[in-house]
Amino acid sequence: MRHLIAGNWKMNGLAAEATALAEAVAQGASAVSADLVVCPPATVLARVAQSLAGTPVGVGGQDCNAAASGAHTGDIAAAMLRDCGATWVILGHSERRADHHETDDMVRQKVRAATEHGLVPIVCVGETEAQRQAGRHAETVGWQIAGSLPKDFAGVLAYEPIWAIGTGRTPTEAEVAEMHGFIRGELRRQLGAAGQAVRILYGGSVKPANAAALMALPEVGGALVGGASLMAADFLGIARAAGALSKPGAGG
Ligand code: PEP
Repeated sequence: MRHLIAGNWKMNGLAAEATALAEAVAQGASAVSADLVVCPPATVLARVAQSLAGTPVGVGGQDCNAAASGAHTGDIAAAMLRDCGATWVILGHSERRADHHETDDMVRQKVRAATEHGLVPIVCVGETEAQRQAGRHAETVGWQIAGSLPKDFAGVLAYEPIWAIGTGRTPTEAEVAEMHGFIRGELRRQLGAAGQAVRILYGGSVKPANAAALMALPEVGGALVGGASLMAADFLGIARAAGALSKPGAGG
């Protein structure tokens, strides 16, 4: 299966720069053997989706509310993301879990709403540095998977150790391989056969320089990229590194 490289632009990009970035990604996309998605801020989502229409680059939101509509000031419904041209959505990112006190239960409800409205959810899980130092990383992620994914989950899971996000630090290759193997086992145990089809992305300080080594690890089906997704050359460099690898297996 091809790797999926998803760019999380977070709270970055006014109209002109977002459009220019999207166009630069689209220009390089056809030469890359990986699936590409960009997740711009909501304010430029429709504009970015328009400029990417007809290209192989997908567009996603960075969050959605679990409700279909109503009194949720400042929030965005899954149907609104679809209406803007998105077909993907990041859910349960650690920054939302921290800044907006999102729980696994809330994330699971958002996953349901996203799926009902035709969006592919990219659900984020990952341990804090303290949890890793205490040897509780696998247990933490196991509980997050159990709480955040509905039993009929058909989306993407992103393993993002919180201490690796935006820090320039990554786990060792052995640590990434260990966690992805553990996550695959949990997905199979918790979701049954459907757990084999879930793509597992690694996220946390992925750059062109470390992408090939990380993407080649067993059960790594792609990357969720923050900082490096804001530069088209870096994002495409990661995608090229991933695209140069091919792996057997549905989830791989
Ligand atoms: C992220 O926020 O999802 C992320 C992986 O960020 P970065 O690549 O900057 O570590």
